[in-house]
Amino acid sequence: MKQNKKYPIIWKKDDFSIKIFCSIPNIATGILLKAGSFHFIIDPGDGILRDLNKEIGTKKILEISDIFVSHGHHDHVGGVWSLLTYLRVMNKKSPLTIFFPKGCVEIGSIYNAFKKVYSKTISYEINLQKLNHTNSFRRKSVLIKPFPVIHREYLHDGIKTRQVPAFGYTFTYQGKKICYGGDTAYCKEIVLNAKNSDLAILEAGHDDETPDEMHMTLAEAKSIGETAKKYFLVHVPE
Ligand SMILES: [Zn+2]
Repeated sequence: MKQNKKYPIIWKKDDFSIKIFCSIPNIATGILLKAGSFHFIIDPGDGILRDLNKEIGTKKILEISDIFVSHGHHDHVGGVWSLLTYLRVMNKKSPLTIFFPKGCVEIGSIYNAFKKVYSKTISYEINLQKLNHTNSFRRKSVLIKPFPVIHREYLHDGIKTRQVPAFGYTFTYQGKKICYGGDTAYCKEIVLNAKNSDLAILEAGHDDETPDEMHMTLAEAKSIGETAKKYFLVHVPE
C-alpha cells in the first residue's frame, strides 16, 4: 500500500520554513514559503486563498510579492484567479510577480482574462515573468534556481501524450536549500537538484511501479529523497 503524507506538512530551519497545505494529484497543491519576514507562494492550486487566510491573514497576503508556478495543470494553478481577484478587492498596492515556465499558457490566459474583466479597477501591478532559462536569480534574499523537468499530459485520445512546460525550483536562504520538483518524471535535473538539499519535496504521483514520463514512482521518488538531508513525498495518489 502506498504511504501518503497527511497535510499540512511543515519544515522549518531558523527563519526559513515551508508549509505544504496540500498536494493531491488532480485536486490541488498549495505551498507557502517563508524566508525571514517574506512570504512566497508556490503552486497556488484551488483552496490557496482559504489556506493563506487561515495561516497568515489578509494583511500578510497583501504583502506577498512573488508566486512561483511549476506548470499550468489545474491542480497547480487553480487558485490564481481567486487570488488575483482577492488582492484587487482588498486593494493591494505593492506589485505582484508571477514566475512560470515559458510556454505555460495557463498563467497568461488567466492574467489576460483578469485584466479584461477588471480593466482599470486593478489596484496593483502584476508582472509576469516567463522563465526560459535556468539561471539563478534573487528575490528578497532568497536565491532561486529554476530547472526544467519532464512532465507530460495526455491528449484527448487518452493515449498520446505531450510534454508540458514544467520547472522545479530550488530556494536557498541563509545557506539552507529547499528543492521542489513540481510534477516530474524521474529525470537528471531532479536528481541533481535534490541531491544534498536540506529539504527535497518530491512527487510520487505515479499510480503503479512502471516508470513513465509523467510522474515518479514511489521507489524513484524515495531513491532521490535519500540523497537529500530530509525529504517529503507529496502528490501521492489517494
Ligand atoms: Zn501536472
